This record gives sequence, structure tokens and C-alpha cells, in this order.
Amino acid sequence: MSLDPGLRDILVAILSLSFVVFVALFGHVPALRKTPIGWGHHFMWKTLPRWFTAVDMKLTGGTVVRTIKGLFNYVMYDKHPLIQLFYLGLVSGGLYLFWLGAWDRIWSPFHKIMVPIVASLPYITLYLASYTDPGYILPENHRGAMKLYPFDYINFKPGYHCSTCRFEKPARSKHCPICKHCIAKQDHHCVWINNCVGHKNVKYFFAFLMSTNIILFYGFYLTSIMIHQLVMESLPLGTDVSKVGWGLYFNQFMLCLVLDVCLGIVCLLCMMTGLMSVGFSGYHFYLLWAGTTTNETFKWSDWKEDIAADEVWMARDPARNPFTGRWPSSGPLNAYNWPVQTDKLVYRIVNPEEMEYLDKHLVWNRVESIHELENIYDIGFWKTLESVVWDLKF
Ligand SMILES: [Zn+2]
Ligand SMILES: [Zn+2]
Repeated sequence: MSLDPGLRDILVAILSLSFVVFVALFGHVPALRKTPIGWGHHFMWKTLPRWFTAVDMKLTGGTVVRTIKGLFNYVMYDKHPLIQLFYLGLVSGGLYLFWLGAWDRIWSPFHKIMVPIVASLPYITLYLASYTDPGYILPENHRGAMKLYPFDYINFKPGYHCSTCRFEKPARSKHCPICKHCIAKQDHHCVWINNCVGHKNVKYFFAFLMSTNIILFYGFYLTSIMIHQLVMESLPLGTDVSKVGWGLYFNQFMLCLVLDVCLGIVCLLCMMTGLMSVGFSGYHFYLLWAGTTTNETFKWSDWKEDIAADEVWMARDPARNPFTGRWPSSGPLNAYNWPVQTDKLVYRIVNPEEMEYLDKHLVWNRVESIHELENIYDIGFWKTLESVVWDLKF
């Protein structure tokens, strides 16, 4: 396939940039930790800053690094709408370019109706995900929050207190230092929505992800068809379209993309951000399927390492109700009618002296594999999806 060198350079640059962004954003995911992507992430966020700090200390006594750190902390660890505005800017800018370059080329009334509908979805879902209470746990609703999920005695055990909120931590909750509250079934703090994703707003978060996917796919679909038409028009009259090779077609396609700037930018933007958006959505559907949360995947990944280091011990506690084993006939699930219960207790013991603290009435065995630990929150994709859509009020 022959490709114009200029176009090839653009393509290589776009792909490289996408890869670097992917490594920077997703390299810390446990599944990628021990791969070149994880190492790249470590190099980007740990090694490079160390070198930079060393040079800055020599040159300015650390002024540049202090300023950057202040800005970085503001952007990463404070509540601020910068990333929301960035998202809105991308969508609105993209829509404006679409209006300039593509609106008049829309070929059917159906699409003329669909475009405004699809275009409004990201605004609505971003608003809902951002401004819905993610599940703040307050003294007045703490009792209800404790009843949401059973303790799994692995990642969440009763009797642990949040030092900031000063109450017992409910199962699956996490204190968010940015939102300054404990959040029920906290997934992660999301900078795109400037809010935590938790028990009460995770459905809107999914709606936000899906509407982003839809607008990007739809934008790519419409603009690539329009560019395809331009390619057809650009071929000499009487050309047999079926005889045009892929190389020539691709060349012409890239050329039209560059020549018709508005169309080209929208098409490329949709394609590049679409891949990222689909990847991110895929990860969140995987979490639903696995019955876990972003927060809990970090905990599971830690257990894996601790088990490999022979530090994890488990016992059965016959005093605890082992298994109710019944699906509730109706009504949403809660800690009392949760279909999976466990009678196991799991602890990490680093120093042999700590064995003293374990309950001596129980028989403790070393855990050899992560599969011995049961994820009681994994109740199947559809049940989890149902619990996300019809979230229990507390
Ligand atoms: Zn808290
Ligand atoms: Zn938060």
C-alpha cells in the first residue's frame, strides 16, 4: 500500500500520541501493572518527575516544581470544574465544527432529527452524573448506609471507623478526600464529572459514558460517510469504483480529511476519543460483570500480591450465619437478603507476632490462591445491573 509520506507522518503522530495518553491514563490499572504499559506509566509519573525535580533543585532551588505541584494538586485533588469545562469545550467545539462542515450535507430527515437529540444527551447526562448525590454518608443516614451491603470480611470488615466522618465504615464505602465525605459503594472520584461515582449516581455515570460513546460513534459514522462521498467526487469521472485499490482509497480519504478541515477534525476527533471512550466504558462494564468496583479492584490486586508473599490467613467462623442461599422473592437486595454470604474471615499477617491477635478458637490456614477468597458482591451481571439501575435508597 503506497501512502503519501506527509499523511503517514500525521497518522504515526496521531497513533503515538493516543498511545502515550493511554499509557498515562490507564497504565496504573492492576491488570496492566506488570506489562510494558505499566512500566511506561511508572516511568512517566515516577521516574521522569524525579529527574525533573533534581534538575530544578539545581537550577531554581525547586521553585518550578513547587508551582507545578501546587497546580497539579489543585487540578487532581480539589473540587473544580476544569475537566468538566474541557469536556464541554470538546463537545461544543465538535458540534460547532459539525454545524459548519457537515449539517448541510446531512442527507436524510431522519438524521436531521437524530443529530440534535444525540447532541443533547452528553449535556443532560453530564449534568445528572455531576450534580446527583453519589451517596454521601451523613450521621442522619448512616444507619441506612450500614444496611446496604453485607460485610465480606475480606475487603470490608465491621468495626473500622472513618477518622474524618467519625462513624463505622459501611461495607463497600470509601472516604473521598476531594468530596470530603464517606461515599456509599464508592467506585472512584471522577474528574470528568467533578464528583464521586458511587451507589446513587453510578447509573448516571453509565448514562454519561454511553451518551459519550453514542455521540462519538454517530459523529464518526456521519462524517466518514460524507468524506467517502467527497472521495468518490474526487476520483476522475468514469473511474470504476470497484477497481480503486485500498491504498489509493485511503490516500484520497486522508486527503479529503485534510482538505475539508471542519469535517476532517470532527471525524478524527470522534475516532481518537471514541477509542478511549469505548475502552473506558468496556472497563466499567467489566466491573459490573465481575461484581466489583474500581476501588475494590485495587484491594483485590493487593490481596494477590500478599498471597504471593505468603502473608494471608483464613479461617471459617461457624458462629456466623454462613449462607442464606435464597434469592429474595421480590424487592431490591440489601445486607439482610443478600444472596451470597460467607463464613470466612481473612487477615493479612506480616510479622509472625501478629498471629497472637487472631481468634484462637478458629483454625487458621494460609491462603494459597486468590480463588480461595470469595467475592460475595459478585451476584452476576444482570443482578448487578439491576441493583445499579434500581439503587436502594438509604
Ligand atoms: Zn469519611
Ligand atoms: Zn469524590
